[in-house]
Amino acid sequence: MKTTARRMLRMMIYMLLMVSVCITNVPRVWAKEHFIVCIDPGHQAKGDPKGEPIAPGSPHKKARVASGTAGVATKKPEYAVNMEAALILRDLLTQKGYEVIMTRETNKVNVSNVERAEIANNAHADMTIRLHCDSIGNGGKSGAVLIVPAKAGTHTAGIYKPSYDYAQLLKKSLEGKGVKVNGIFERGDMTGFNWSKVPVIIFEMGFMSNWNEDRMLSDKGYQQKLMEAVTEALDAYNQTLN
Ligand SMILES: [Zn+2]
Repeated sequence: MKTTARRMLRMMIYMLLMVSVCITNVPRVWAKEHFIVCIDPGHQAKGDPKGEPIAPGSPHKKARVASGTAGVATKKPEYAVNMEAALILRDLLTQKGYEVIMTRETNKVNVSNVERAEIANNAHADMTIRLHCDSIGNGGKSGAVLIVPAKAGTHTAGIYKPSYDYAQLLKKSLEGKGVKVNGIFERGDMTGFNWSKVPVIIFEMGFMSNWNEDRMLSDKGYQQKLMEAVTEALDAYNQTLN
């Protein structure tokens, strides 16, 4: 009798163990709960032409921070539009429970592209969103452009895939809101990509060289729409992680 009781107890412990193993082995269907987004509003009030290496160990240098463009209609500097959009995005993501790191929150700073990448690296960001506006000699050109690190880049091969995956989701999300996307392009010569150890994209929100689009880029409602697309795409991307 005593032996039977012991055997039953052993059996019960074994069953409890099995159940706990099964529970911990259930695949996670929910997304990453602690998702860190680094937002980098491109440029700053004053560019810094002093050079910095375009990649770790590279003899090639580019300006620490380029000056950026300005609106053909609004005359507004690009860094200001980038910041307006970034603050909207920061608030949208914070409300949704994302942890947000900003490379800058004011325009009067001097933070180089290497330093911006390092802010994201040190924060172990799950995704970095670099916000910019485009400019080109052709005033008729409009639409968003998404840029990702080069697939074959020495320093970026490891971050290409998640960056590209997110860019695809953002393209879909933007197009779903009626925003024209010119495409997803790879770049191997961007300092901010080559120094990044975390997935990163540049979202060129539109052309400030296009009269209408320049005005739209300064419109709060349009900025909100673009940043909602970024947020939706992050939600979708997060769902793909486990
Ligand atoms: Zn720019």
